[in-house]
Amino acid sequence: MEQTEASELDHLRKLNAQLEKDIAHVIRHDQLTGLMNRTSFVTEVDQIMSKADYSTTNAAIIEIGISGIPRIAGSLGRHVADYVISALAARLNAIKDQNSLCCRLDYWSFAIFIPLIHDPLEALTTAKSVIEALSVPVDWVDRPLKMELGAGVALTVEGQHQAIELLEKAGLALKSATEKNGAGYAFFNPALAQIAMRRANVLQALQESADQHQFSLDYQPFYCTKTSELKGFEALMRMNHAVMGTISPAEFIPVAEESSLITKLGAWALAEACREATNWPSHLTVAVNISPEQFYSGNLITDVYNALELSSFPAYRLELEITEGTMLKDSEMVMSQLSSLRDMGCAIVLDDFGTGYSSLSYLWKFPFSKLKIDRSFVKALEDTHLVRGMLRSIIDLARNLGLKTTAEGIETPDHVAVLKEFKCDYIQGYLTGRPAAQTDLAAIILKNYSSQLRDQPEAARNSVAAMHTTLQAP
Ligand code: C2E
Ligand code: MG
Ligand code: MG
Repeated sequence: MEQTEASELDHLRKLNAQLEKDIAHVIRHDQLTGLMNRTSFVTEVDQIMSKADYSTTNAAIIEIGISGIPRIAGSLGRHVADYVISALAARLNAIKDQNSLCCRLDYWSFAIFIPLIHDPLEALTTAKSVIEALSVPVDWVDRPLKMELGAGVALTVEGQHQAIELLEKAGLALKSATEKNGAGYAFFNPALAQIAMRRANVLQALQESADQHQFSLDYQPFYCTKTSELKGFEALMRMNHAVMGTISPAEFIPVAEESSLITKLGAWALAEACREATNWPSHLTVAVNISPEQFYSGNLITDVYNALELSSFPAYRLELEITEGTMLKDSEMVMSQLSSLRDMGCAIVLDDFGTGYSSLSYLWKFPFSKLKIDRSFVKALEDTHLVRGMLRSIIDLARNLGLKTTAEGIETPDHVAVLKEFKCDYIQGYLTGRPAAQTDLAAIILKNYSSQLRDQPEAARNSVAAMHTTLQAP
């Protein structure tokens, strides 16, 4: 009897020990992939580094980011995204060096810790080979799913051996590597930390400015290349912060895009531009820039509708400028919103053409109204004659597809001459007019009208007649 009790006790002890082990395993590991989780990774890396001497060698953390997971989750379902992540985790685990540790950092990133490195290039070689291995498409039913991967590498520096710090640096490096197209690799450098600090300050300033209405819109005119007639204005957002002063949209828009603020700002810009443009002669259009995030937020159609309704501004005078990047992610969802906006009567303009992918497929996949050729293209006219041929071909191609063209960044009379020769429809740039405050627009409009009356009296009279007809229409 006593013996049975002892063996039962022993059995219970063993069960308990196993249970504790299982619980410890669950606590330390990611349930989907079986890899170590972030917390246990940080603890183990700290333990290993505290025992090592890094006076002549280094350790490294590589953060691997997988882009395309939200796209897969959105189009094929979360279970497929989970399947892809598990498959990539298994590959990572199989190829990693036995002294290295790897973990799943968050939903779409992994980290690898290499405890001993003699040459920083070793870390880069590891990063490259991991990216190569993980980039091989994952088979799902009958289709291969290809992921875009990026890597950020951070090395220990003397006196700084904290896992959290290294992870943060690797994350910044990953961000800088993948900012443009979701792929690539980069080493951390101190300038990245400064950039991150500045971004954090801009974000705070954005939040403060959003509360205190410190945004405004400037308007840059664009003209008919052939007749120099004013055709409309592009609304460009301005931010004036009490302490940081004026911050360029090229800087604050990307920061706003990373937070949810862009949705609020974008809706405000639409409403403000439509409200302002109702005061202009009725043949002038207003163009508003739309961020990719506004499409993903799901509010864009309502925001455009509200902006038009509240100001009683006609949709055919509103142009919405989007960049190619907008169509890279979840293009079906974007395309259907673009179609709705076009059905509402708005013109859809492809902005900054000539940067990014410049994929011609977008041009026939969606019926854009206009193509805006990026200013870097116009600028390159001065550097090489090859650009002339390309510029002419783009304008001809757009015309054949029934699209109007605007050339941005017109700074010299030579630019105007070339674009006239190539029959580009519209020009916009510092030469013809810098972005101006709303209070200066009346002067710009009147000046153009009087010069039109002088140079193209017939056309100017017609445009005034058209203005009158529109104003008198019920
Ligand atoms: P974008 O839409 O391509 O606007 C044209 C930019 O080029 C403007 O810069 C304009 O001031 C500048 N520019 C115009 N002509 C010339 C020229 O001849 N030479 C040079 N060097 N630059 C010229 P800005 O106002 O700094 O805006 C930069 C970008 O910020 C815009 O590029 C647009 O992508 C974004 N942005 C501005 N306002 C908004 C907004 O309301 N919403 C969103 N989502 N983005 C905006
Ligand atoms: Mg634009
Ligand atoms: Mg542009």
